[in-house]
Amino acid sequence: VPEDAAATVPTASSAAATEATEFPASPRSVTLGPAEFTTGGKHAARFRLVNPADDGSVLHVRLAPGAAWIAGVLPSEAALGPGEQQTVSVTIDADEGRRVVRDGGAPSAPVRLLYQRLFAENGSNNGGEREAAVYVHLPVATCPACHRSLEAAVGRDGAHAVPEVCPYCFERLRPCPVCGAPNSWLARQCAQDSSHVVRASPDWGMLGGGSAHDGSRAAGRATTGLARRWSFPSVPPARRENRLAWSAPVAAYGLIAAAAATADGDAHLYAFDARTGAPMWEPYPLPDPVYPDRGGAAIAGGRIWAATVDGACVCVDALRGTRLWEVSLPGHVYGAVVPTGEDGKRLLVPAATDDGRGCLFLMDGEHGTVLHQTPLVGPPDSAPAFADGRAFVHDDSGALTCVDAETGAVVWTAACGAGFDSAPVVRDGKVISTTSGGVVWCRDAATGEETWRLTVTNAPFGGTPAHDGLLVYLPADDGLHLVSAGTGRAVRRHPTLQPVRSAPVVLDGALLFGSTDGNVYGAPAGRGLEKLYETGTTGSQIIAAPAVADGGFFVAATNGVLYALTVVEAAAVTPPTDQGAGRAV
Ligand SMILES: [Zn+2]
Ligand SMILES: [Zn+2]
Repeated sequence: VPEDAAATVPTASSAAATEATEFPASPRSVTLGPAEFTTGGKHAARFRLVNPADDGSVLHVRLAPGAAWIAGVLPSEAALGPGEQQTVSVTIDADEGRRVVRDGGAPSAPVRLLYQRLFAENGSNNGGEREAAVYVHLPVATCPACHRSLEAAVGRDGAHAVPEVCPYCFERLRPCPVCGAPNSWLARQCAQDSSHVVRASPDWGMLGGGSAHDGSRAAGRATTGLARRWSFPSVPPARRENRLAWSAPVAAYGLIAAAAATADGDAHLYAFDARTGAPMWEPYPLPDPVYPDRGGAAIAGGRIWAATVDGACVCVDALRGTRLWEVSLPGHVYGAVVPTGEDGKRLLVPAATDDGRGCLFLMDGEHGTVLHQTPLVGPPDSAPAFADGRAFVHDDSGALTCVDAETGAVVWTAACGAGFDSAPVVRDGKVISTTSGGVVWCRDAATGEETWRLTVTNAPFGGTPAHDGLLVYLPADDGLHLVSAGTGRAVRRHPTLQPVRSAPVVLDGALLFGSTDGNVYGAPAGRGLEKLYETGTTGSQIIAAPAVADGGFFVAATNGVLYALTVVEAAAVTPPTDQGAGRAV
C-alpha cells in the first residue's frame, strides 16, 4: 500500500503551524491502492507515530479504528521517548469497504489517536489528553454535498481525481490541498478534517468587501502592480450597442459575479471562475437591468442576490446559477444589495418609491420574504451599510438613517446637508458619510452624534470611500482625498484630471482605484499615484466599484469589458523611468 507523500500543512494559520510540530504521526493520511480495493481481501497500510518533542517528554498514544472496514490497528497503544518513532499497521478490509461505499457510506475513516505528553521528572502531563486522526482513504471520493460516490471519476492511479462538478447534484468541487478529499467551492475547511484549509482568500461578496464597506484588506503583500489575467469579453466590442453595461463585480468562493445589460436592456447575471475566467454557468436572465454605476450583486451563504432598477429582486444558487427565488418590490433600486452576514440569512435592499421618498427592505435572504420595510426621508441611490445589528442608509434628501436590522425600527436619523452618491462606511463604531457637497461626516454609529466633520473640497464626492482604520480614502471629482480617521484632518490629495467615482480599495496601505479616464491607478503607502492599467482610449470610464479576491482586482469599464487583473509586485510591472512616465498628474 503506497503511503501518501508527507502531508503539507498550510503555514497561514499559526494554530495549524503549532499543531504541525506537535502532530504525533506521519503521514496524516494513507490511501488503499485501487488494485487492492478492486480485488478485495485484507490489506495493510502503514504510518509512523513520531515524538518530535525536544522538551524531554514521553509521548503516550492510544489508537482506535474509526470504521468497521478498518479491521485492525497494531499496536493499539504506544509510548515513545523523545525523537523515537514507531510503525503502525492498519488492516483494511477491502470487501467491507466496498460494501460500505456501495451503500453510500464514507470512503474515508480515521484511525483515532488519543495522545498526551508525560514528563518523567514530576509525573505531570502537558495539557491532558488530546485527539488527532490519521485518515485512511479508500480510492473512492464522495460528493460533500449529496454524499454520493464519485467512484467513476477516480483515476487508475488511485489519486483522488476530483471532478469539477458533482454529476449528481452539480456542486462545484475542488480537492483539499492536504488530503485530496473533494470539497465544495463554498468550503473553507476540508469536509474530511477541519484543520485542512481548502480556501484561504477572504471573500469580497459585496460593495467594499463586506457589509460595512470599508474596502480595505490587511492580508497580503503591499502591492500596487496589476497584470491582466482575463477579461470578458476578451476585447472591447467595437459597436457601442454591443457593449455590456456592468454593475459592480463581487467575488466569493473563487468565482466572480456581476450583472450586465445590453443597450436594449437585455440583462443577465454572470459568474466566472476568478482564476481562469471560464463561465461558471449560463448567464441568468434578469427582467431588467441592475443599475450600472452604484448597483451591484452580492454573495453570501452560497447565494447571489441582485435587485434591478424596476424592483425585481432575484436570488440564485452561486455554484449552479439556478433560481432560488424571485420577488418584485414596490420601488426602484439604484444601490447595491447587502447581506447582513456571512450566512446570507438577511438581505438589505434600498429602494426609491414612487412618492418621491424611499424605503429600506429587510428581507429573508433564504426565502425572499420581506420582513420589514422601513420608510426613509428621501430616495436612496446607494447601498446600505450594516454593522453590529444596525443598517445605515444614505438618501437623496441628505439624511443618514440608522435602522435596527432585527425590528426595522429607525434608531436615529441625521441630516448631512447634501445628497449622496456614496454608501455609508462603518468602522470602529463610527459611520463615515461623504456628500455631493464635498463634506465628510464622521458620526458615532450607536447614537448618530457627530464626531467630526470636514469640508474637504468644493467638488462632489461621487463614490464610496475606503477606510483602513487610520485613513479614509475619499473619491471626488477633483481627485482622491486622504483624511485622518481619528481626527478628521485632511492629510493628502492625489489630484486627477478626471473625476474618481469608483470606490477605492486599500491593500496593506496601498491604494488602488479606477477613474473615469478609464485607467486604474495605484499609490503605495506614502507615495504618489502611478497609472497601473489602461482599459482603453475611446472614452472608457471606470465607475462601478471593484472587487478584490484570489489575488485579483476585478473591475468593470464602460467599454463593456469586465477585467480580471492580478495584483503583483509594483516593480515587476512598472519599472522606474527617468521620464516619470505613467504618472497620473
Ligand atoms: Zn453531489
Ligand atoms: Zn483535507
